[in-house]
Amino acid sequence: MKAAFIYAPRDLRVEEVDVPKIGDDEALIRVRACGVCFSDIRFYLGLKKYKHTGFGREYPGFTGHEWAGEVVEMGKNVENISIGDRIVPSIIIPCGRCRQCRRGRINLCKDKIFTHGGFAEYVKAPAKNLMKMPDGLGFEEAALTEPIACCLNAGIRSGIREGDEAIIIGDGFMGILNMMIAKLLGASVTLIGHHDERLELAQRLGADKTINSKNMRSIGELEKEVGGKADAVIVSVGNKHAIETGLMLVDDGGVVNLFAGTYPPEKIELDPNMIHYGEIILTGSNVAPPKLFKEALNVLASRKLNVEPLIRYRFRLEEVERAFEAVERREVIKAMIVP
Ligand SMILES: [Zn+2]
Ligand SMILES: [Zn+2]
Repeated sequence: MKAAFIYAPRDLRVEEVDVPKIGDDEALIRVRACGVCFSDIRFYLGLKKYKHTGFGREYPGFTGHEWAGEVVEMGKNVENISIGDRIVPSIIIPCGRCRQCRRGRINLCKDKIFTHGGFAEYVKAPAKNLMKMPDGLGFEEAALTEPIACCLNAGIRSGIREGDEAIIIGDGFMGILNMMIAKLLGASVTLIGHHDERLELAQRLGADKTINSKNMRSIGELEKEVGGKADAVIVSVGNKHAIETGLMLVDDGGVVNLFAGTYPPEKIELDPNMIHYGEIILTGSNVAPPKLFKEALNVLASRKLNVEPLIRYRFRLEEVERAFEAVERREVIKAMIVP
C-alpha cells in the first residue's frame, strides 16, 4: 500500500509498504478520507513529538488521526463490527492503568497513544475504538468527528449554555468549528480573527459577530467592538497575546478555555485578583473523552452543523506534503486527503 512517512522535519515521503498486520482485537480499515490537523503539521515541522507514530519511534513515523473508512479485515476476537462497515475511530488508545484512566479521565491518560496512520491506503486500529457511521453520512464529513468531539469538549468545559455570550479567539478551522459548537450549545458568539475571508466564512456559518483584530488599536477598543465581556472565551490560537486578550474579555464568573497548544511554550501575565474577586475559571481542553466522539457523530448525523463549506479542499495521498504546506501557510481552511 501507499503511506506517508515523516523522516525528519519537512521530510515527508509517500512510499510503498506492506499493509499493516492486525492483532486478534484489531481491525484493518481501508481509508476513504483523512483530515489534516494542525497537530499533524506540528509533527511535520518537528515542533511536537509523538511516542507512538505507527512504528513505535519518533521518525520515520506517520500521523493522521482524522480518518474514516471501511472495515476490510478483523481479528478473531472482534465482535462489535463487521467487514464492510463504514467506521470512524474514537482516537485515544488509553493505557487503562494510570490514575487518570482509573478515574475515568481517559483523554488525560499519561500513556495514551492515538489511532494514527490515516495518511495511507490502509490503517489498523483496536476494534473497540471503532464507531459505525450513521447512514447517509459521507466519509469526508465523518472524518470531522474528532475535531467536533474536541470542540464539544471545549464547549462543555467552558460551561456554555443557552443564552450565554461567548467569544472565540482565532479564525482557523478549529476556531470556526468552536464557534459553530458554541452556537449549537445556545450561545450568542463573537469570533475574533485577522483574516477577512475566514471571518466572512464564519459569518456565513452562523457567527453573530466577527471582528478583525488587525483593525483594533487597543484591548479597550476591542472590548467596545465586542459590546462587553463574555461568559465564556475559547482561545483557539496558541500564543501569549491571544491568551492574555482572552483573559481581558471574560466577565466575572466566566470561563477562559485554552483550546490550543502553544509552541514554543510561553509564559502569560495573569492578575490573580481577577481570578479571586471575579471568580474566573481558567481551564483548557485536550482532545475529548470517548463518549464525546459518539456525541460528535450524532451531531453530524443530525445535520445541525453545516460542515460542507469547511471541506472543500481535497488532495490525493501523493499530495500529502502539498496539503500540509497549504494548511501551514493558511491557504486552505481544512485539507482532506482522499486516497
Ligand atoms: Zn485533529
Ligand atoms: Zn492511562
